Amino acid sequence: MGIDPNFDANLEKVGEENGVDVWGLVDPPEKLGIHGTHVAVDYDICLADGACLENCPVDVFTWVDTPGHPESEKKVEPTYEDQCIDCMLCVDICPVDAIDVDASRD
Ligand code: SF4
Repeated sequence: MGIDPNFDANLEKVGEENGVDVWGLVDPPEKLGIHGTHVAVDYDICLADGACLENCPVDVFTWVDTPGHPESEKKVEPTYEDQCIDCMLCVDICPVDAIDVDASRD
């Protein structure tokens, strides 16, 4: 199952990391929640494929280390989500549907 597109209604905003909102249940290192709001990455699904980071036309994503997470030891942070042009490439390309993009969540 991929990221919940209604996470902003279903989950609490619990903090901020690297200037990005963090949503949901967070219990590191195993449970890291959803990072971002306009461009949201479910850290508990992301397996660090990297296609989003390599192909985003406006370089929204940066790598962050997540040692000890069961899926992958690094994740893509939507650090520059304010630059997103809503092309949806990252949503389409992610092999595990870990990303949702919705400008109305800004
Ligand atoms: S929707 Fe397009 S511009 Fe926005 S983060 Fe994804 S790939 Fe980048």
